[in-house]
Amino acid sequence: MSQQFIKLILPLPALFQIQMSSDEEPHVFPVIPDTHEIPCPLCEKKTILHSKKRRRFRHGHAWGVGALWIELDVPRQRCLSCDLTFVYDYGLGLVRTSTEVFRKGITERCHGRTISDVAHEYELPYTTVERWFYQYASVVYFAIGLCSELQKKVQNFASKYLIS
Ligand SMILES: [Zn+2]
Repeated sequence: MSQQFIKLILPLPALFQIQMSSDEEPHVFPVIPDTHEIPCPLCEKKTILHSKKRRRFRHGHAWGVGALWIELDVPRQRCLSCDLTFVYDYGLGLVRTSTEVFRKGITERCHGRTISDVAHEYELPYTTVERWFYQYASVVYFAIGLCSELQKKVQNFASKYLIS
């Protein structure tokens, strides 16, 4: 897989460098974030690395391969001012073994299909897909609905005031 193609199927913020997967595990892509200051979420002061854990998360999907995983060091930071420790997830919405992009992508695929159908196709437990669906459907479909709603409004406006 070319670097360009990998970036397309594994969309990530620009601060991440995606490495090639190994022959043994072609579906796992190690990613390396740029080092940058991570401010405390409570007092916004400077934090330092407290510990880190290498973890894997489902992030994309490819035909014939299945789920594509990213592997990264997830840091736990400690605030030098207020002593708070917290896990920093780079805004990826890391929960258990998936990223938010992955969960929303699966929810989108439930559009016009049954949850069991999608669960089967992506080899995920039914209850997992169901949970994501109810968590994200309103957000995902609101965005889709909003677009067609807006189009309708523009058309109505045009036919009322511009054409006549
Ligand atoms: Zn703090």
